[in-house]
Amino acid sequence: MNHTTIISARWIVTVNGDFDVLSDSSIVMLNERIDEIVPNSELTGREDLAGATRIELGNHVLMPGLVNAHTHAAMSLMRGIADDLPLMDWLQNHIWPAESKWVDRAFIRDGIALAAAEMLRGGTTCFNDMYFFPDDMARTCQKFGIRAVAGLIVLDFPTIWAKDGDDYLSKALAVNDELKELPLVTCALAPHAPYTVSDGPLEKVAMYSSELDLPVHMHVHETQHEVDEAIKHSAKRPLERLDQLGLLNPNLIAVHMTALNDLEIERIAETGVSVAHCPESNMKLASGFCPVHDLSTRGINVCLGTDGAASNNDLDMFGEMRSAALLAKAVAGDASAVNAQQAIRMATINGARALGLGDSIGSIEPGKKADLIAVDLSHLATQPVYDPVAQLVYATNSQQVSHVWVDGVSRVTDYHLADDIDTLAIIARAQHWQHKIQRNS
Ligand SMILES: [Zn+2]
Repeated sequence: MNHTTIISARWIVTVNGDFDVLSDSSIVMLNERIDEIVPNSELTGREDLAGATRIELGNHVLMPGLVNAHTHAAMSLMRGIADDLPLMDWLQNHIWPAESKWVDRAFIRDGIALAAAEMLRGGTTCFNDMYFFPDDMARTCQKFGIRAVAGLIVLDFPTIWAKDGDDYLSKALAVNDELKELPLVTCALAPHAPYTVSDGPLEKVAMYSSELDLPVHMHVHETQHEVDEAIKHSAKRPLERLDQLGLLNPNLIAVHMTALNDLEIERIAETGVSVAHCPESNMKLASGFCPVHDLSTRGINVCLGTDGAASNNDLDMFGEMRSAALLAKAVAGDASAVNAQQAIRMATINGARALGLGDSIGSIEPGKKADLIAVDLSHLATQPVYDPVAQLVYATNSQQVSHVWVDGVSRVTDYHLADDIDTLAIIARAQHWQHKIQRNS
């Protein structure tokens, strides 16, 4: 049976091609889709809408749900496990040992539950993940009603998920088939990084990506150190190697991308690679700076990710938008770099495009899936409102998200997660893992 909902708000930030910001308008949602966008004055007398559910949001902005283009969601259970360390020390001496000791299917389910609840509550409706047990990750996301791209991880070395490159790849293909039944989940191939995956498996990733039209989600040029080591061992920069292996194309989501030279920026512009920028993780691990302003001015699709909660330490896309806008200005020495409009594009439509979902989510346009959020600007810190777009990036806190819909289904109402999400149970499981890990370390 069809169900129509009319959501009226003070402003609608559409993030369409012209970035239209509408005042006193409504979104008509038909089942899981946005059916039309109409001025409130034209709603009276519409008999076809007489049976619709009405939601009035007087001081709110309606905008597309935020798209977190890079995270390791289950790592939320390792939030705060090792801080104030550089990337390789953090990874090799803390994260990898903890993962090999603790990560199993129960860890994934509890970690994803914590992350999904945190993200939905803060206005993120879709995220791009890379971690172990992507099958359990995907099913947990479907259950929580959050859209996700399951990263089918590929590494050279053995972990609890697979034993070698071929094993990772055969599991990736099997999980890709298995997850087709989940409406909120799509898949990406996720080779971890140039320094953890050798040429053989990477060639196969390039081949499967083109055959199955799957995005490739990979950490690339996270630090200058990564680039220096690659030159030492192979006399090649990582991007050059990926180019030779056939991976530079519109399916690639290259995460981090610090330490880039002009030729490399030219090459990724030419080949249509998307860049997932993670400003807070890069700053926290002192990894370096992604030249976002240069990339954007050359037309490269730059989206935004939080990275995992063990290196951020939250999954807050409002915080990430603000950090991205501020950091870009500091790095470029130009106050106009990454303006508010661009920061919102990076956190919505650009992420959707990178994930191959640009036609279905990322903006408020008729025919698209209703992945929507409402943000209440009547809070002290966001008054008065000269410009709702600037307010969202420079002054808004994620806790001002009052309503969230994913695929037309309500996940947050009046600041509360839906009844089928048991916050207290999620927190109890997170604390259970903390005690277990602390007792045994
Ligand atoms: Zn990462």
